[in-house]
Amino acid sequence: MGCDLCEAAQITPWHYEDDVCWIADCEVCDVPMVVWKSHSPTPPDDARAHMVAQLTIVADRVLGPETYTIDQVMRQIPDHFHAHARIPNWWFKG
Ligand SMILES: [Zn+2]
Ligand SMILES: [Zn+2]
Repeated sequence: MGCDLCEAAQITPWHYEDDVCWIADCEVCDVPMVVWKSHSPTPPDDARAHMVAQLTIVADRVLGPETYTIDQVMRQIPDHFHAHARIPNWWFKG
């Protein structure tokens, strides 16, 4: 079985990319989502902090400062680290 997040790395238009992570709009939630480039659920603390910081920069630009919260709960794909910038009414979208 393939991993959706590993595969998405090849097809999704990205807001941001570096050696650690990439950020794109989540197809399901339609909000910015940071995805670790390693297929693992447990990034080291420095990588996790880096990804949250980058997601914050993108979400400030896309959604607006203080309109969202960083959600690190991995509901759909629990074995590959990712985090969403959730706006309060995200579950009403699409
Ligand atoms: Zn993966
Ligand atoms: Zn999502």
